Parts: sequence; C-alpha cells; structure tokens
Amino acid sequence: MPHTRPVLLAQANPAHRQHLEDLAGQAAGAIGDREKCFVLPVDHSDLFPLPGQGATRTLWESLATLGSIDLSLARMLEPHLDATAILAEAQAAQRPTSDAVDLADMGQGTWGVFAAEGAGMRLVAGRQGDRVVLSGRKPWCSLAGSLSHALVTAWVDEDRRGLYAVDLGHAGVEVDDAAGWVARGLREVPSVPVSFTDVPAVPVGDPGWYLERPGFAWGGIGVAAIWFGATVAIARRVFDQARRRQLDQIGQSHLGAIDASLTGARLLLADAADLADRGVADPAAAAVAALRCRRVVAETAETVLWRSDHALGPAPLALEEEHAARVADLRLYVRQDHAERDQAALGRALVTGPHDASPW
Ligand SMILES: Cc1cc2nc3c(=O)[nH]c(=O)nc-3n(C[C@H](O)[C@H](O)[C@H](O)COP(=O)(O)OP(=O)(O)OC[C@H]3O[C@@H](n4cnc5c(N)ncnc54)[C@H](O)[C@@H]3O)c2cc1C
Repeated sequence: MPHTRPVLLAQANPAHRQHLEDLAGQAAGAIGDREKCFVLPVDHSDLFPLPGQGATRTLWESLATLGSIDLSLARMLEPHLDATAILAEAQAAQRPTSDAVDLADMGQGTWGVFAAEGAGMRLVAGRQGDRVVLSGRKPWCSLAGSLSHALVTAWVDEDRRGLYAVDLGHAGVEVDDAAGWVARGLREVPSVPVSFTDVPAVPVGDPGWYLERPGFAWGGIGVAAIWFGATVAIARRVFDQARRRQLDQIGQSHLGAIDASLTGARLLLADAADLADRGVADPAAAAVAALRCRRVVAETAETVLWRSDHALGPAPLALEEEHAARVADLRLYVRQDHAERDQAALGRALVTGPHDASPW
C-alpha cells in the first residue's frame, strides 16, 4: 500500500491537507480497479475543479497526489478530467456541441482525449448527409478499448484539424489488439492505435479551436502535475535512505540536487496555477507558461530518476514492487513530453511573442 501523504504546491491549511489525504487513501484502495478509479473525482468533486476558475492549484495538487499514489490510475483519470474541462470550455464559449455530449451525461461516461498524430496514420473528418463522420487511424489511444467516449482530433482539410466527440462503442471503431502494448511501464493503460470507419462525430468547437483555447495550456500543465507527484514519491524514497544509513557526501549531494530541482518545479506549478486563475487573456502567454512548466517538470523527473538510480542502487528497482513500477511508469509517461522539440518550441514562442525585451 503506497504512502497516502498528499503532494502540495504551497502551504495548506489542515482541512485541505486532510481532504487530499482522504483522496490519497481512497486512490490507494482503487489501484488496479477502473470502476473505483473513476469514482474518485465524483466522491471528491471539490478537489477536481475546472482549471482557470479560481482553484487551479487544488486541481493540480489532486493530480500530483494521484500521481504519487499510482501513475496508471492518474493516467486513466487525467484525460477524463481534461475532456470534462474541454466540454465545459466549449459550452462556456458557446461553441457548437450537441445533445449527444450533454454535460449532464458526463458522470455516466468515461472519456479519453486522442489528439496525437503518427507517421502513416491520418484521421479525416468528412460528411455523410448532414452528419460528420470520422474515418482513418489514430495512434496512442489510451484505454480506447474500455472507455465509453473520446474527444478526437481529425483533419478537416490539408492544414486544419477539428475536435470531435465520438462514442467508442460504435461498430465503426476498431481498437488494435492490446497484446501489441508491450510497455514495461503503464502496463494497465494500453495505448494502441484505433481505426475509425464512418464513425458519427459531434464537432466540439470550430477547426483549430482545440489548440488555440487557453484551456489547452492548463490541460498540458495538469499532465505535468502528475509527473511532479510521481517524482516527489521517488524523491521521498531517496530521502528514506537517510534513515537506513548514514549518508556520505555523495548521498547528501544527490538529496540537495533533488531538493533544488523539485522546489523549482513546485514553485513554477504554483505560479502557473495563479496565472491560470488570473484569467490570462493572451493564449500565447498561456502557451509559454505551459511549455516552460512542462519543460521544467520533465527535466526534474528525469533528474530525479537518474539520481535515485545512483543514490539507491539496483535493489529497490529489483526488489520493491512499488518503486520499480513507479520508475518504469514515470520513465514512459514523461515521454509524452517532446523533449528538445518542446524546448525549441518554447524558444520560438519567446522570440515570436509579444516581448520587446528578454522575458527575464
Ligand atoms: C504512455 C503514453 C500514452 C499516450 N496516450 C495518449 C492519448 O491517450 N492521447 C493522445 O493524444 N496521445 C497520447 N500519447 C501520445 C503523446 O501525446 C505523443 O504524441 C507521443 O508520446 C509521441 O511523441 P512525439 O510526438 O515526440 O513522437 P514522434 O514525433 O513520433 O517522435 C518520436 C521520436 O523521433 C524524434 N523525431 C521526430 N521528428 C524528427 C526529425 N525530423 N528528425 C529527427 N528526429 C525526429 C523525436 O525527437 C522523438 O524522440 C501517449 C503517449 C504515451 C507515451
């Protein structure tokens, strides 16, 4: 059973801390049980507010806490919560949606968000009479075989992609064999390609809206909050080492470096939560915040992964189920970051953005 200590981004009052600890306790009991997992945001609804509505830090602390408990569980819930936020944002912006994705029904469904592109795969939105249908293939569709619905991006022409809500139970949806998922991490979250054949789809927003809305940035940081939570859990295991043996200077140096890296990432997440809640008007500023935050948290995760390997040696990787699984899960999960390509995107956003002078 994992520790149920919450992961906080700032000082918290005892009631909030206790509430997060209750979430952590229930999450620990839900590991490996999808039904129990999807009940968590219902049972603890005030810990899962929509981002950018005044309590973003609470949302990201909840995601970080789930990440510290179990990454498969957090990976299952994150897209479901993101889809909820996207649909709410579309409704608030009065973008076209339909009765088929009435938010009132959301509690009944389990949602994924499939937006990745892959070489040789293309999902296209076309028309059949007066309805939109999707045909083609989409890579990286996490849990497509066991979710009820998904928000999916598809090409409307050579340059533009739209976002669509689809029923994954439709006969035209064919999920690749999960046996192809040979990952050593996130084993319970098969993320294989899906083929669509004339699958009815409900447009959510105009083409391009999905990527342009400020919520895209906050959703991306939510993922980073989960990486952060798992990284904290690994760092706590390194800290435990000090109780088991007298740390030499090398052990102390690893701890110091881990602390500095984690503290920078934590402060940046807290700062980004404030920015989201101030209602940043400029989507470019939100995009810079997200690229910066994801970069720092991903680098922190990678730093803590290698430092924990060096500081602890092979034994916990070979003999401790929880630590070994967490390391394998995080190593794969953090690859959703586009590494140097996102770093270049951040640099590009800075020079093409509104700054006359350097941003620092
Ligand atoms: C566990 C897991 C679950 C996921 N689940 C989902 C999901 O549910 N929904 C979803 O939308 N997405 C999902 N994804 C996909 C994710 O969002 C990314 O699309 C995916 O990680 C691919 O990353 P990428 O775009 O960097 O890969 P690619 O663009 O395929 O790049 C692969 C590698 O090639 C390198 N590369 C790319 N272009 C060049 C070039 N021109 N020259 C040299 N090298 C190059 C990159 O640096 C990278 O290392 C998931 C990913 C993972 C790992």
